[in-house]
Formats: sequence, C-alpha cells, structure tokens
Amino acid sequence: MAGTDHQVKSVDTCYNARVESFRDEEYPMLNGSIYLDHAGTTPYAKSLMDRFAKDMTSNLFGNPHSASASSQLSTTRIEDIRLRVLRFFNADPAEFDLVFVANATAGIKLVADALRATPDGFDYAYHQASHTSLIGVREEARNSLCLDNRKVDEWLGGSCPFGNDSENRPVLFAYPAQSNMDGRRYPLNWAERIRRGTRKTYTLLDAAALVCSAPLDLSQVDAAPDFTVLSFYKIFGFPDLGALIVRRDAEEAFDTRRYFGGGTVDMVVCLKEQWHAPKAQFLHERLEDGTLPVHSIIALDAALDVHKQLFGSMRDVASHTSVLSTMLYTKLESLRHRNGEPVCVLYSPDPKTANRSLSTGPVVAFNIRNSQGAWISLAEVEKLAALKGFHIRTGGVCNPGGIASALGLEPWEMRRNFSSGFRCGTDIDIMAGKPTGVIRASLGAMSTISDVDGFVEFIAEFYRDTSLSSARTELVPQPHEPSRFRIHSIYVYPIKSCRGFQVPSGADWEVRPEGLAWDREWCLVHQGTGQALSQKRHPKMALICPSLDFERGQLRVSYAGELPAHQDREISIPLSKNPSLFRSSSSRLRSSRVCGEEIQAETYSSTAINNFFSDVLGVPCLLARFPAGGHGKSMRYSKAHLQKHQLPLLPTAKPALPGSFPPSPPDSDTEKTVSRRILLSNESPILAITLPSVAALNQEMRVSKPGSKEVLPAVFRANMVIASTDTDAPMTPYAEDSWSGIKVGPQQHEFEMLGACRRCHMVCINQETAEKSEEPFVTLSKTRRFDGKVFFGVHMCYNDADQGASGLTKERQFPTVRVGDAVVPEWRKGE
Ligand SMILES: *Cc1c(COP(=O)(O)O)cnc(C)c1O
Repeated sequence: MAGTDHQVKSVDTCYNARVESFRDEEYPMLNGSIYLDHAGTTPYAKSLMDRFAKDMTSNLFGNPHSASASSQLSTTRIEDIRLRVLRFFNADPAEFDLVFVANATAGIKLVADALRATPDGFDYAYHQASHTSLIGVREEARNSLCLDNRKVDEWLGGSCPFGNDSENRPVLFAYPAQSNMDGRRYPLNWAERIRRGTRKTYTLLDAAALVCSAPLDLSQVDAAPDFTVLSFYKIFGFPDLGALIVRRDAEEAFDTRRYFGGGTVDMVVCLKEQWHAPKAQFLHERLEDGTLPVHSIIALDAALDVHKQLFGSMRDVASHTSVLSTMLYTKLESLRHRNGEPVCVLYSPDPKTANRSLSTGPVVAFNIRNSQGAWISLAEVEKLAALKGFHIRTGGVCNPGGIASALGLEPWEMRRNFSSGFRCGTDIDIMAGKPTGVIRASLGAMSTISDVDGFVEFIAEFYRDTSLSSARTELVPQPHEPSRFRIHSIYVYPIKSCRGFQVPSGADWEVRPEGLAWDREWCLVHQGTGQALSQKRHPKMALICPSLDFERGQLRVSYAGELPAHQDREISIPLSKNPSLFRSSSSRLRSSRVCGEEIQAETYSSTAINNFFSDVLGVPCLLARFPAGGHGKSMRYSKAHLQKHQLPLLPTAKPALPGSFPPSPPDSDTEKTVSRRILLSNESPILAITLPSVAALNQEMRVSKPGSKEVLPAVFRANMVIASTDTDAPMTPYAEDSWSGIKVGPQQHEFEMLGACRRCHMVCINQETAEKSEEPFVTLSKTRRFDGKVFFGVHMCYNDADQGASGLTKERQFPTVRVGDAVVPEWRKGE
C-alpha cells in the first residue's frame, strides 16, 4: 500500500526538528490527531487559522445555487476544492466523484441508504477489524456476515460468502484501510479482486484511519474501491468535514436512492402528479442534500496549504510516523519488570517485521501487566496519562471485532461481560481475568521523538516494578499439613429455587464476592403479587432444569416432569443482557419480593419464555433477572451470621476492673459491619456442606427410623460439597461449624465462614422427583436444633480483600475453583 513502501529506517531529523519547533512544550501528545483547541499557541494551528481568517475576511461567500456574485464565488471555490481534494488522493475526476459529507460515518450511511432501497435490498459482509460505523450497516442489510482474513481470502479465491449464484441482490463488502484499533493495514486491491466474482459486488473502503498518516492513492482506477470514506478533521485537525469518493462505474448504486432534498433535483412536481427529476450531470449534485457546509469546504483550501507547508507531503508524514511507531513499539516491547517479566503486551503488528503487503500504521495497541502477571486497569492508566499530558485512548475504541480477536475474547465471553453490565464502561475493565479493551497510542504528523521517549518513560516510571522482592513466586505447595479435604462437587442455581446446574469437572468456575458466577441470577415472580416463587410453595420448580451453554451463549431450561399437551420441553434464554429482552424500562419498574424483602428485578417481555414457566408450573409467572451491580432495590446484602452453637465457649468472664464492661461475645452482628453483596440467594454468597455431615445425618436417620430412604446431598442445595480425602481418619461430622474459613485450590483462595445455615421444610423436597416427605427435617430437628432453630451447612463468601504485599497476581485477578481442589480449613479460635 502506498506510504508503506517508503518506510525509511532512520529518523528524518529535519522533519522532527521542524515539528519540535512548532510544537508547544506544554502539550505533550501521543495521539495521531492534530489539535487545534489551543489555536494560537502552536504555529500549525495559528497558520491555519490565520490563513482561513484571511480568506473569510477578504471574500464574501454566499449560499450556492444563485446568480449573485457571492453565490457564484462559493460555487466556483467549492468545485475547485472538490478537484483539489480528488487530486490529493490521486483520483482522476473523470473516473471519480467526490461528495462532501459531515464525516466518514455520514458517507457510510449514504451508501447504506442507497443500497437498502434496491428492490431486493443487499447482502453485507464486513471485515472483522471494522469500526462500529461500518458494522452498523448490517442492520440495513438482508443478510450480513463478519469476515476474518481467512474468509476474505476464500472470497478473493472466488467463493462469495453469500453463494455465487447471481441473485439480483447486490453484495456490499466493507473494510478499513487501516484498523483504528491496532493500526493494521489492509490491501487496497481487495476491491479489484472481489469485483471479479460473478455476483454484483460493491466495495466500501473506510479510509478514515489510514489517511491521517499515509497517502491514499486512487490512481489505479481498476483496483480502487467503489466507495471510499474519510474525515478531513483526522488529517488536518480542521475543518470538521468528510468525503465520500465514488468510482464513477459504481454510481448506479445510487440510482435507487429514494430521498431527495435541497438542490439535488432539476424539477419537482407535487400537486396533481408526484414526480421529480434528479440532477443528472454529477453524482455529488444528487447526493449533497441541502446547503453545503460552504465555509468548512473553503477552509479545506487553507488546511491543504498549511499542512503541506509545515509537514510536506503525506509521504513525508508516513515515513516520519512509521519511524516513530517502530521506536515506540520496540521500546515498549523491551520494557521489563525487575523480575524479567514484560511490562507490556502488544497487539499491533510488529512494525519491524510487518511485511509490505500487510503493513501497519503508526498505532501501538497494548496492555500493561504487573510483575505478577495481573492486568493493570485501563481506566487507571488513562487517568494518569491524562494528568501527564498524554492524549491516549483506552477501551474498546469503537472496534469490537478487532478487540475480540486481539484479546482472544470469545463471543460468549463478550456476552458474559455484557451480561455483567456494571463492569463495562466503569473503572472495572478487567473481567474474568482478561482486559476488556486496549491502550492505544497513535502517532501523527505532529508527533515527535520526545513524545515517544516521554511516553515510554511515563510507562516505566509508573508501571515498571523495580523491587526484587516481588520476583514472581512459583506456586509451591504450602508448608501446611497435606489437606484432608477436597471439593467433591460444585453447583450453581441459575434460576432461584429451580434445579441446580452441576459444574462439569475440569471446568474452572469463577468465584465473585457475591457468589459463584451465574448463581441465582434469575428468578420467577408471580404475575399478580410480584412475589418470587419458591420451591417450598411450588415443589415442581425442582423439575425445572437450567443449564449454562457458553458456546451458544444460552441458558437452556428443560422440564423434567410431565408436560401439559403441546408444551415444549425446552426453552433457551440468551445469557446476554440484551435490553430488548426485557419489558420496556419506561413502563414502571415492577417491584418483587424475595424472602420478604422488596427488590427490583427486570422481567422478560417474551411471552414464549414466560408461558413456558407458567405452563409447566401452572402458576402465572414471569422470568426476571437480577444481575450483579444494581443499586438501591436492585442490590441485596448477606444476612448470614455466626450462631450461638458455633461460638467458642468463653472462659467465665471475670470483670477485670470494677465497673468495666463485661467482655462482649464475638457476635458477628456487632463485630462484622462489612456488608457483603449477594444476588437472589436467600442469605449469603455461597453455601457449603460436607459429605461426612450428610453421612452422619443418614446414620442418625437409619438408627431412629430403620429402613428410611437415604437423603441425597442435593436436597441441601449447596454450592460446594466438600468431601474428606482421608478414608482412614474420616472427618468428624459437622466440623464445618467450627471452621472460621477455608483455603481452596492451588492458589489458596480464601473463603470466610459466615455462620451456619438455618433450614426449613424445603430440604424435604426430593430434587429429582419433586416429591415431599418429612425427612430429613424430622431427624435434623432432633439432632441439629439449637435455640429452637434447625441448622445444616455453612454460609461463606470469597474473601478478595487482602492481596498481600506482593501485589495482585494473575490468578487472584480471576479467582476460580474446580472439582477436586484441596480444601484447607482454619479453625475458629478456642476450638
Ligand atoms: C474515526 C474513524 C471512523 C469514524 O469517523 P467519523 O469521523 O467519526 O465519522 C470510522 N472508521 C475508522 C477506521 C476511524 O478511524
């Protein structure tokens, strides 16, 4: 591609010195854009504004389309500038027309509008690196596809992704000349190769990112895209204007465009007949609706002059920025923590090896890790960079496909991240152990060597760990005695009170402060009362079996009981929290009640979904979702606390001094004031039981009632079932009552015990059959009753507070548990 063939390997010191001389010391930058906000302080901005002001004060520009001298002057100047801009891109006016638009996006919309109006619509394929402005076109298309390089190659090889039979419906293929995310450039000649296919195919090139720092060369008409869009402010800083450049051979695409307005017609008849004759000579006359931004177009003259005068040609800008970005890339790549770990993970192609056909623009996209491998928050970097005067951008940078492929985010992960809406766009930008965006440093005509050096110094100063003590500690088995416990099984209950979903063995399951991922995020609420349905009242809920399908991004729900006639056995609910799934937020948010507590959950609007649940249960109900991160009534707190029978016996208190207060018992109500958030679970983030306690209960039942049926662990609806690994010295039943916490897995994730779990009749519902009996509640009330209440199992929560002195580690950033993990208990003092 033009511009990249001319990479020079040494710095053009003249260019750099020239730019240094007209840069303002106070404004370090690391951004491709030329800023004019501080016009008057930088010579570029000042020259441009002076030049434009002179034009404005020495001429009178009227509204085009009339005979006055001022109007004629505008018309002439606009047409001259149109030609000048075409020449700037090496486009022959006999072969191309240029339509002035507000920005690149407006150009894209003009193309989409026209193709939408063709009789059969159009099929749309866009490259994965596309900016959101291109992606949005898919909503207008009959069929749409997102293509990666491999699929584009197949197409270039002759197989159109929509099939080769020449349907009447045209195809539009759109791609960026340069990715705005990582600077990767894509071949200009794709257009020519794709046009060779049998099906009518138009190509749309988004050159908005490319043209800031490289020449766009349209001299090869046959190779040129049919439509090219760009924004001038990205090249010159000013004026705020864009262009759509159309290959004349493709002008017919606009013949079906319906709307007309302003001066785009030769004649309009509107009373007894309704017809109009569009202007016929030039395409731009038909497409430029309403009055042109006359003064902005005229400012382009000044911008082209001053840019050339100060920076030289776009070729000069390209070679300068290419040298700078190679420097930046190389320096960031070689930054190391004291322990030898790299500071930056880079996503842009390596400019040192990027080959000529698939080259790269002056953009370095990266993320930062600490010496322990944990990701640094993007928001934190951006805030600090802003303070230091670096104009970088972080996050998804309007390029979802590019971000997903750079960060290895699968569609279901993006949906999951989206589902946890509260973490997006907030300061929490690391999700499930992966960053959700990038740090993007772009260089432009105005960038200098000292910008690059300053930025690298900034990263090193704030993010390079120079202490040796934090050398990455290999995870060695802890010096503790070998653990005698392990996780036997893990369950989540996606829909409150419905059957549990057993986490497959081998899967790493995310643990959050509010509980295991996906636990009790949904519930069913009664259509009349808003009350959340519970298995206690509706035992059949045990037969509603949700399962999490991340590949398809769905919560699949099946019903294990007898079905009413014509009832579907299964229904799928998207895991993503797509707002269109819910009742419109303008209608009053309904309050629901969970365990007597008023909450606000979002109810689904789909009758198919709501009918499925209402029909199988025979209760009019709605599915509702209560995702993490709400506020007010969309937020709940744990109510679990230590019970009296769990408290160590206090030594008989002797008043230390006459008149002093007696020592207060370590009651959790007084000692713990931290509030732990939960979703729709009854009391606490996580519930654990142990198999030895279940075995003991069964033993007691067999003794008191010979022949009684064994109780399965499932009735206790625990999240973690803990087993003893030591068959010789089996664990004492109910030992969990005396644990103050446990450490789980090779990372020793800490969980804090919050108190014993109080039980009700719900434990009597067989989770396989939904049948009710009196056991195990009767036996429990004989053996496990304290203060008139019955207890079994323990509440707990993940303790993410203390990360230790060595900083957050990669593993702690995304804590997970899995079946088989060792469990090391800590015993409460006094035991
Ligand atoms: C900036 C940019 C756009 C959008 O340009 P607007 O001027 O906002 O319309 C589209 N695509 C790419 C590659 C960009 O860099």
